Amino acid sequence: MNIINPATGSTIEKLTEDTPVEVNNKIAALIEGQKIWAKVPLEERVAIIIKYGDLVMENLDELAKILSLETGKPIQQAINEIKGAQNRIDHIQKDALKWLQKEIITEEGATREEITFEPLGVIANISAWNFPYNVGYNVFLYALLAGNAVAYKPSEFASLTGLKFRDLLWEAGIPKNAFGCFIGGAEVGEMLLEADLDGYFFTGSYKTGKYIAQKVASKLVPVQLELGGKDPLYVMEDVADVKQAAINAAEGAFYNNGQSCCAVERVYVHEKIYDEFVAAFVDEVSTYKIGDPMEEGTFIGPLTRADQMDVILSQIADAKNKGAKVLYGGERWGDKGYYLTPAVLSNVDHSMDLMKEESFGPIIGIQKVKNDQEAFELMKDTAYGLTAAVFSGNELRAKELVEGLPTGTVYVNCCDRVSPNLPWTGRKNSGMGVTLSYMGIRAFTQPKAYQLRG
Ligand code: NAD
Repeated sequence: MNIINPATGSTIEKLTEDTPVEVNNKIAALIEGQKIWAKVPLEERVAIIIKYGDLVMENLDELAKILSLETGKPIQQAINEIKGAQNRIDHIQKDALKWLQKEIITEEGATREEITFEPLGVIANISAWNFPYNVGYNVFLYALLAGNAVAYKPSEFASLTGLKFRDLLWEAGIPKNAFGCFIGGAEVGEMLLEADLDGYFFTGSYKTGKYIAQKVASKLVPVQLELGGKDPLYVMEDVADVKQAAINAAEGAFYNNGQSCCAVERVYVHEKIYDEFVAAFVDEVSTYKIGDPMEEGTFIGPLTRADQMDVILSQIADAKNKGAKVLYGGERWGDKGYYLTPAVLSNVDHSMDLMKEESFGPIIGIQKVKNDQEAFELMKDTAYGLTAAVFSGNELRAKELVEGLPTGTVYVNCCDRVSPNLPWTGRKNSGMGVTLSYMGIRAFTQPKAYQLRG
């Protein structure tokens, strides 16, 4: 398997994909390892995860370089991601004992009642490449914490990072047979689906997620899917500062080249401030430095996958055919690598793919709306339900609007962010199940009810 540098299109390294025999051997080892790992006291498991976090920070520069090289993420954003993901470890340190320890429900009466939270067993974590630290940690750290063994399959676009997770987890004290890293693409993922595992935790596209849910349905084990989004942002006319709103919206759309599950994917702006907002938005985007992800100050690097350039260019062509105006960017950039200049389009509407299909790249459509009701209807007009944001000077007005939206997360005056204290969950085609928060701590457990007499 060739690991490609998206900034140049050249091969960085060659890895060998796991064969079916290797996959089966690794799974057999995990089944044995899980039994031992589950007996390690919870406090010790927490301490090992904290140690892992320390090792990551000690190796920050090297890890950021690897992440940047294989995904094209600008180096500063790679550093931000790695440092930011430490908040999952802080959350585990703060809350794990509280939510995983035995709960005593009744101590009096003929029958005493208790609940314990047992691990599921060996779980598969089939993961994505766009934020491998964040989305990986949401699953594998919390699964290990609860006493599971993890069959982790990093995306084929973030395999070097996945191997580093494995090495540092082992170094921190996770037994080698409690965490396995499976190298390969869809074929190796399929092997995990064929295996007899105790849970399937997937982060990736709607198409693959739906396929996985159907494929493993008859196993009757927990399945969680963290999938894509077409996340809207509505800017009300009462925002305190239109220019600042445009700067924040642009960052929400173009950070990590728009390759975030909760990136702002479409913008609606009240007609009273539309022209001012659009001008400020284009001004801001025109300041973004595009180029070598290793160079300090680069904000837009290459896309991670070559194919996604065609998706973006075809969304632009479709939108133009239907009357949209390209105000900025939307063209290939440079003579090597997978670069597109960030595209800003106006005169857009919901007949265009750009406003309906996940773009997952450096493109945004900005649509004018007459009032909150129109914005609300447009925001809801999607098959996805991950996040939605409103910028406003009036929290009550903004909250009234977001309350009615069928998304797992709503933002007021912020966007494109994840907090470990809150449940991370999608509705409709954005997935099912929960990671993060106390619910995400328990997501990797099964409760056992004790009824104790005498
Ligand atoms: P993808 O679906 O192409 O791949 C995800 C993983 O599935 C990879 O590891 C891949 O090798 C594996 N896979 C592919 N086919 C498989 C099969 N048949 N059987 C088993 N495994 C298979 O998605 P991607 O391109 O890696 O990620 C981008 C998508 O992920 C976007 O839609 C994005 O919105 C979404 N995402 C969602 C969240 C979230 O928290 N909701 C977070 C990050 C990314």
